Amino acid sequence: MSQHMNLFVPSFKTDQDEEVEHKTETQTLTGGCGAWRFKGNSAAKEAASVSMKGTLARLFNNCSKDDIKTILPLGHGDPSVYPCFQTSVEAENAVVESLRSGAANSYAPGVGILPARRAVAKYLNQDLPHKMKSDDIFITVGCCQGIETMIQALSGPKANILLPSLVYPLYHSHAIHSLVEIRKYNLLPDQDWEIDLQGVESIADDNTVAMVITNPHNPCGNVYTYDHLKKVAEMAKKLGILIISDEVYNQTIYGENPFVPMGIFALIAPVVTLGSISKGWLVPGWRIGWIAMNDPNNIFKTTGVIESIKEHLDISPDPSTILQFALPNILEKTKKEFFEMNNSILSQNVDMAFNALKAIPCLICPKKPESCTYLLTKLDLSLLEDITDDVDFCMKLAQEENLVLLPGEVLGMKNWVRFSIGVERSMLEDAFVRLKGFFARHIKSQST
Ligand SMILES: *Cc1c(COP(=O)(O)O)cnc(C)c1O
Repeated sequence: MSQHMNLFVPSFKTDQDEEVEHKTETQTLTGGCGAWRFKGNSAAKEAASVSMKGTLARLFNNCSKDDIKTILPLGHGDPSVYPCFQTSVEAENAVVESLRSGAANSYAPGVGILPARRAVAKYLNQDLPHKMKSDDIFITVGCCQGIETMIQALSGPKANILLPSLVYPLYHSHAIHSLVEIRKYNLLPDQDWEIDLQGVESIADDNTVAMVITNPHNPCGNVYTYDHLKKVAEMAKKLGILIISDEVYNQTIYGENPFVPMGIFALIAPVVTLGSISKGWLVPGWRIGWIAMNDPNNIFKTTGVIESIKEHLDISPDPSTILQFALPNILEKTKKEFFEMNNSILSQNVDMAFNALKAIPCLICPKKPESCTYLLTKLDLSLLEDITDDVDFCMKLAQEENLVLLPGEVLGMKNWVRFSIGVERSMLEDAFVRLKGFFARHIKSQST
């Protein structure tokens, strides 16, 4: 990771990065009795190993350091590092006001402070027929804590959970860590990335507790239709499971399909919606999000899920009270023009990238993204001379062109390649010029 860590997010840089050259010899020191009695627990080792950081680090290390070509980091996504993707003034002011008010210096309750819970309920209720109350909302440290809390709250002997074949890696990590068995269902690239519902039914059993859906979908870039989500709810009801709907990208939509929150179908099956301001407001570093219980039939209460969530939140750290106090103003005062502007930049980037792909026939995008900040392409190896798979493709691309893309293998999609489009336009243009050169060099010579 070291010298290129600053390309992930500048704040990830450590003092060690500067010192890598001057490694000192490690001495073996021992305690008074001949050996220290403590050592690090490795329980999270496997859970942490499914993260994508290791692969990205290898790709960055394959880039040429003294090349005149700057490194283009399109493998991972955090648009907030680029000047064209800055948060709204209203959101900044909300945090400043909260800080200066002096009212946000105290501890907050585990479930979150009332004004924040009310504000999230109001924000989500705009689009829902069954209105949630403040009690149905729990404030979390980003969407990540929502994921962790839900998996812990649902874990139990033999429990299994249904995850999409392409899923935010943290679901995987926490399921492994909480000893919840993972069962994967397929997404269908040729059917607008819809969920293979027959497949869902075939992998579920009496120990299945929940299915996770991501909508809008990172990284496929699709938004599910009303009809498809209704079928998902009906399947969940048939199986007797709850739905966890990760809607963290609900503001990042620039296609034709309107976003439909899963909570609309909560009368059919109970729905837990996970969200945060990280992506929509371009502030992943602010660390505030929510768990929202869409459950007009009160199933979560009678099954003890609410109690379990509260207990888990009581014993884990809370998001900063400053951000909790600021949340109502962040949600209410940010103008829709802010989202429209960001989405219009993303939409232009997607158009540009989608068209540019036509000159690179070995990368095929089955569906033009209509949401989120990625472009997912299938790698056609038959057109390439000396490339063995997606990892090889990305490694050689990094080495020859200083362009970093993410091999699909990391996401569970062998021989797919993911681009981040939440970057400066000029970087994206540059990336396609380099890809064209790369493709020309590795194209299979025509046999006649
Ligand atoms: C980024 C992301 C998260 C985590 O969100 P935070 O609010 O940063 O914790 C969860 N799910 C998906 C699909 C994401 O893309």
